Amino acid sequence: MLRTALLLGGVLLLNLPGSAADQPQPPTLPRVISPGQNTRPPADAIVLFDGTDLAAWRHLDGRPAEWDLADGAMTVRPGAGGIVTTAEFADVQLHIEFCTPESDHDTGQGRGNSGVYLQGRYEVQVLDSYRNDTYPDGQCAAVYGQYPPLVNASRPPGQWQTYDIIFHPPAFDETGRRTRLGTITVFHNGVLVQDHVTIRGSTTASPIKEQPGDGPLYLQDHGDLVRYRNIWLRPIPATPPAAGQVYD
Ligand code: MG
Repeated sequence: MLRTALLLGGVLLLNLPGSAADQPQPPTLPRVISPGQNTRPPADAIVLFDGTDLAAWRHLDGRPAEWDLADGAMTVRPGAGGIVTTAEFADVQLHIEFCTPESDHDTGQGRGNSGVYLQGRYEVQVLDSYRNDTYPDGQCAAVYGQYPPLVNASRPPGQWQTYDIIFHPPAFDETGRRTRLGTITVFHNGVLVQDHVTIRGSTTASPIKEQPGDGPLYLQDHGDLVRYRNIWLRPIPATPPAAGQVYD
């Protein structure tokens, strides 16, 4: 009996692939963090804008960000150009608040247009889409030119709105070949509007080549007085679970 058990044990051991280090580890308790209060960032967030200064931002040519700062918000300065973060990121959870101007009475793409670009390449459209129709994949909360939002959850101009975004950039192998497309999930004012959609390359009019590595967050100057506040993000693990994968 003992001999059989030992043999069985030996067979079982022999059948184990790889070393003990390859074996699934027992789940550990999730890290405890302090969640934010209302619009306050959580304790482990990288705060990119808290209303006090534009130190985390610059223009594409490197000069300091020249957008206007008042009342805890930054406002696009038309003609100054878009601004990017000096820091760069890969996979992130991003929170950002925006407010389109009540004074803008243009129509379509001309009303309250700006944009939040992940890695400077993938735009989640910012637009006044409150009673202002435009093409579906160009309205507020669209992945520009690729995916209309699932619903239009826009608030009227002059009211603050939120995006909560989960972004995974494309993955590449060591030769630089793209092995996986990027994905994005967006909540607009707390409503799911993009459900882990696959990003089909850069959303810019002139395609920007996708490449490995981190990239900045970019906010668009589209000539409209759009305001932003309370911008923070949290780096997250690179590989999302595959569809149907079970968490231990
Ligand atoms: Mg835009």
